[in-house]
Amino acid sequence: MVVGVRASAGERGFACESGLNRLPRVRQRPVEAQAPGHSELPPASRRCKVLIAGAGPAGIATALYLLHLRPELSGEIVALEKRRHPRAKVCAGGLIPRTLQSLAELGLELGVPSVAVVRGRAMTEIGAFEHVREQALCTIVRRDEFDHWLADAAKARGLRLYENAAVQHVALGQRGVSVASDRGVFCADVLVGADGSSSKVRGALFGAMKSAVGRALTADLPLGARFSEEFASRLYRFDFRCVGWGIKGYAWSFPCLIGGQPHLNVGVYDQTPHATVGGKAAKPRLDEALRRSFPELKLDGPAPDGRLFKGAPIRWHDAAARFAHGRVLLAGDAAGVDPMMGEGISIAFEHGKLAALAIARLLDGDERAPADYDRALHVGPIGRKLNRLASAARHFYGSRHRFFLRVMAASRPAREIGLDWYNGVGRLDELRTGGVVIEWLRRLLLGEPYAR
Ligand SMILES: Cc1cc2nc3c(=O)[nH]c(=O)nc-3n(C[C@H](O)[C@H](O)[C@H](O)COP(=O)(O)OP(=O)(O)OC[C@H]3O[C@@H](n4cnc5c(N)ncnc54)[C@H](O)[C@@H]3O)c2cc1C
Repeated sequence: MVVGVRASAGERGFACESGLNRLPRVRQRPVEAQAPGHSELPPASRRCKVLIAGAGPAGIATALYLLHLRPELSGEIVALEKRRHPRAKVCAGGLIPRTLQSLAELGLELGVPSVAVVRGRAMTEIGAFEHVREQALCTIVRRDEFDHWLADAAKARGLRLYENAAVQHVALGQRGVSVASDRGVFCADVLVGADGSSSKVRGALFGAMKSAVGRALTADLPLGARFSEEFASRLYRFDFRCVGWGIKGYAWSFPCLIGGQPHLNVGVYDQTPHATVGGKAAKPRLDEALRRSFPELKLDGPAPDGRLFKGAPIRWHDAAARFAHGRVLLAGDAAGVDPMMGEGISIAFEHGKLAALAIARLLDGDERAPADYDRALHVGPIGRKLNRLASAARHFYGSRHRFFLRVMAASRPAREIGLDWYNGVGRLDELRTGGVVIEWLRRLLLGEPYAR
């Protein structure tokens, strides 16, 4: 029997093994003229080794790492993307140093306009904290440009990208997976669900788990000739005071370039949109919280495109979730990213790298690879990092948040190493707790400056 989105995951079957008509019929988009790299495959060759749902950072990183490991898979990896690059993406576009390390590992140098931030300020209920580095704390890009550039890099290395090709249904079989999209049915040995927080692949095979979905609201403000501390000091600002108002999250203000013009990207993240901190009866709406965090910014008028705020979900890592099922792996937002800050681009690359390693093993006949991928996302370095961030979110967004803020305020060296750990500087985030403590003591003993 074929397993469609509504069938139980325990049932098995494979549409491509016994005829494509077993998947529900979906209306297909007409074939249109395609740019190079978008060529429409003839139906007979709609079989590929690896199928990726979603061409955001997680899907593209999976393809790039896999092509890096196995260049002979060029032309055998297909990504289905619901939209067409360059596509708008609701995101602040902050790349932490760890993401730039991943790009370097893939032999890529950031090829889009960016603003490098070297100074950070965090406002909290007990005071403000500042951090300065010589190297960028964060490199801020626009996601339409970044994702388009990344997708082009993957296409140049052999990814077959189909755009305007939304995944509609997924069917599991003994020897692979088949997917009905609005560009037809595709069959593959392995499927990666990298189709974002509202993933169709997750919904079909893993369960929606809506309780692990946060929400963020953001707006882009043109600066014109106005002075901005963010640009003058290459600063980003975070404001955690909204925790005291019942929101489990923070507001931010990032400098960015849109069409070459300086803008501020402001936003607010709430890890649990339906729950308050400490069971408060009410919390402000996200747009109200944002106005309250940045009263000096004009957050009332409409944006140039008529809508000031844009919202989007962020699925965060939940240790109770599964990340592999048969020959299907979840990556990026579809799996779940940083619960504390909602940072997901570096996580998308980490998931993509692990997915590529698992797929390479699977294609070599090692059927344990998906289970090992699932284990790595639970207890490997990335699983440990996300679990610690989940724990930090429980403490800093919980009813005793002021106590934990005071503990953090007591030690500047601990805050500094915490920041480097978060950013993955020197791969600190891969160390176990003991290793981080040793590094902290080493810095204390050697009196190493923070601004590196
Ligand atoms: C307001 C906001 C601000 C953020 N700021 C930051 C930040 O500064 N830094 C950071 O690291 N993270 C940030 N994030 C999180 C970050 O955007 C995500 O974690 C990141 O985009 C995850 O990449 P992804 O590839 O998993 O998912 P996505 O980037 O969402 O890509 C998924 C892709 O799948 C496609 N797709 C969806 N459904 C289907 C379908 N059925 N079939 C085919 N394709 C489909 C989508 O069109 C999309 O291109 C922010 C998020 C929000 C909402």
